[in-house]
Amino acid sequence: MPHPWNSLLTVLSEITRKNYKSFICCPHCGNRDSHIKYGFYSRYLFDGNLTNIQRYRCDNDQCPQKTFSILPHAFLRITRASLCMLLHVLKMYEQGNSIASIAKHTGSNWPRIQRWIAKAIAIQDWIRVERNGILPCLSSQNLWPSFIRDFSWAFYPARYR
Ligand SMILES: [Zn+2]
Repeated sequence: MPHPWNSLLTVLSEITRKNYKSFICCPHCGNRDSHIKYGFYSRYLFDGNLTNIQRYRCDNDQCPQKTFSILPHAFLRITRASLCMLLHVLKMYEQGNSIASIAKHTGSNWPRIQRWIAKAIAIQDWIRVERNGILPCLSSQNLWPSFIRDFSWAFYPARYR
């Protein structure tokens, strides 16, 4: 088995807390200059604790949306898993572990692990084709803002385009 799942979750939560203040750019229109803080919403960290995500109001008149948030590394949109968690699970699966045993190892359940593997494969393929195979996971935080923007557009176009 790879390193313990719980220590991965702790490390990811710590990284996410530290990356909270990344550079701010509206993902809908690219505006970097005029935005104001516009409340918060809560999200669970990977270790089960809650954290606040800052919401911003974009002041570009041409912007198709009025508010946005910047997700710090290692959060992904929509899914509760981080990229590292998805790829970790996929790796275990490719190494021959059954979905049932991965579910047990990660304290999860069969349907969720099956969804995570499918998602990991889709994201991995997309990274290979669209981002030259470069993983932003656990690397320089400077890669994350453009990654999460492109990821949101590629996987959730109805919400983010
Ligand atoms: Zn905007």
